[in-house]
Amino acid sequence: MPLVHPASFLSSLTTLRVGGRAAAEFRLDSEEELDACGRQISSLGLPVCVLGRGSNILAQDGELPVLLVRPNFRRNPEILGEEDGKVIIRADATVRLPHLLARCAAWGLSGLEGLAGIPGTVGGAVAMNAGSYGCETVLLLHSLRIWSPGTGLKNIFPGQWKFAYRYFGLTEIVGFFFILSASFCLTRASSNGIREAMRLNYFKKKSTQPVLAWSAGCAFKNPSPELSAGKLLDEAGFRGKRLGGMSFSPMHANFLVNEGKGSASAACELLAQAREAVQRRNGVGLHLEIQVLSCS
Ligand SMILES: Cc1cc2nc3c(=O)[nH]c(=O)nc-3n(C[C@H](O)[C@H](O)[C@H](O)COP(=O)(O)OP(=O)(O)OC[C@H]3O[C@@H](n4cnc5c(N)ncnc54)[C@H](O)[C@@H]3O)c2cc1C
Repeated sequence: MPLVHPASFLSSLTTLRVGGRAAAEFRLDSEEELDACGRQISSLGLPVCVLGRGSNILAQDGELPVLLVRPNFRRNPEILGEEDGKVIIRADATVRLPHLLARCAAWGLSGLEGLAGIPGTVGGAVAMNAGSYGCETVLLLHSLRIWSPGTGLKNIFPGQWKFAYRYFGLTEIVGFFFILSASFCLTRASSNGIREAMRLNYFKKKSTQPVLAWSAGCAFKNPSPELSAGKLLDEAGFRGKRLGGMSFSPMHANFLVNEGKGSASAACELLAQAREAVQRRNGVGLHLEIQVLSCS
């Protein structure tokens, strides 16, 4: 039976390092605990948030009426076999992308190189359809193992999900679902070539983004492939703009950074100012890429 724990501060569970405490949290040690977890979820009646690495989350300050589910099981990624000339691998949702990418390079399996430098987990990468340098997580999926209170455990395949730029949704399921593992279709290639591509992507990222700062990645989605949110924010004077210990990075105007003593309320204020300025200046409504975990 998964135990309900007093929740930890979200500032210690997210890479932006702000935020208060959820009402409760479950740490799931195995798939077998999911049904019991489901019963507890319905008896508590709180909105649920599955937490991965917390690298795309802005948690608000104070007490949050949210139930955090923190999966805590992690098998090593494995090769399942071959289909139509592609190699199928499976990774648990909790596996960190850097670990998965290192395995792929060692196996000589190409496809995920563009995700080098993204600090999230496999589950978070699917749920956000994370992407970079021409690589989009969902496009490489072979199948997913998911759980939801309505369906229980299920394997699902392309056609059973919808996706777009930084969006992933399940066609049959409204509301909470949990990604347990993801299988990807990859292509055989030389390990050295894959490692080199990952290294180049990582250094490209490091030279243009504050990858080591406390951030949650890009704050806003790009309005279109031709129009970057970073450019709009830069032109509106937000590159380097600071407020209450938070700032838009001088290195990349779309990266909201905690300078050490920032708070979620300062972050939200700065985001609101930026959105308003871009709307006024360019008539473009920016949409958040960061997921806000809020009190309402
Ligand atoms: C320095 C830095 C660079 C980044 N660069 C990029 C980039 O280039 N491209 C990009 O797309 N993103 C980037 N990001 C953002 C972030 O790393 C990705 O969105 C990542 O995929 C989120 O994974 P996570 O495990 O941290 O998810 P979390 O932040 O924990 O969660 C994000 C969302 O996914 C959901 N979720 C997480 N796990 C599961 C699960 N098992 N089942 C169901 N839902 C789940 C959560 O409920 C939440 O809604 C960057 C972030 C940082 C800090």
